[in-house]
Amino acid sequence: MPPKKGELALIAQIRQQFATSPTALIAKGIGDDCAILRPPTGTEILVTTDFTLEDRHFRRDLHPARVVGHRCLARGLSDLAAMGATPLAAFLSLALPKDLPSAWTRQFLQGLQSLAQASKVTLAGGDTAQSPTHHILADIVLLGTAPTGTSLRRSGAKPGDRIYVTGQLGAAAAQLRTLLAGGKVRTHHLPQPRLAIGRKLRTKATACIDLSDGLSTDLTHLCEASKVRAELDLASLPIHPTATQNDALHGGEDYELLFTSSARIPKSIATPIGRILKPQKNHPSITADGIPLPPQGWEHFKQ
Ligand code: ADP
Ligand code: MG
Repeated sequence: MPPKKGELALIAQIRQQFATSPTALIAKGIGDDCAILRPPTGTEILVTTDFTLEDRHFRRDLHPARVVGHRCLARGLSDLAAMGATPLAAFLSLALPKDLPSAWTRQFLQGLQSLAQASKVTLAGGDTAQSPTHHILADIVLLGTAPTGTSLRRSGAKPGDRIYVTGQLGAAAAQLRTLLAGGKVRTHHLPQPRLAIGRKLRTKATACIDLSDGLSTDLTHLCEASKVRAELDLASLPIHPTATQNDALHGGEDYELLFTSSARIPKSIATPIGRILKPQKNHPSITADGIPLPPQGWEHFKQ
């Protein structure tokens, strides 16, 4: 199908806004049928892809376009951070409704671009189409690199390891509750993917996951992958001042790193919140102050 005028204009806009000259890593970015990437010798490539769907991940009436653009990229970068990868390139597929004001797209791209610059990742391509519905759909693909064999996984936690978390928990959930109740927020929460910490953890963490669906759910994933149990110490949770304990335990979209280590991790990097235990038949994956804590974070198709 020949491209529509609007599509070409939008691609031209994206190309201009994200223009980069060839670098050692990106021999060709936007502008050809494929991008050409040159990962450094001795590295392997990590790939992640994440949807940002209107009325599922954001609402046009509640979330400014700039914030949606930031979070769209933050999702993918946080997955790279969780595995200790360095961002290499991003690819953005957009399906936009016919009647979408061009200001929305412009602000979305601005939000995405400022995080891309701060994180030193290049938008190296994507696809653009008219959405068949009234909904905005975006899909971000992130490629990262790590020295071969060094990336972090969910599966290495060992009994005796401490459990750590970066930053503070629950802010995103607390803010969403305010917005859904019709309240106003002074500044929208802009999660900062923990790329620098993730890289540092390559030699220190035994297992790592990013907190996208909520601590109770993501810690369960880590325990299942590592075949261990976890005991949380509720008093030690770094709860954001605007959030409740429930937000910190089950709220999604914090994009902090949850990891385990046998080493002492400095307070300036992360807070110890519990420890890893031996697996035991018929015992719950997680207990908090000794009481079973079932996963209650976000899961698609359950709501
Ligand atoms: P093709 O028809 O070969 O897929 P397109 O016209 O879709 O080519 O894309 C032309 C160039 O613009 C490609 O380099 C593509 O990666 C880039 N591009 C298209 N849409 C986007 C987008 N939403 N974000 C970034 N780059 C894009
Ligand atoms: Mg295309």
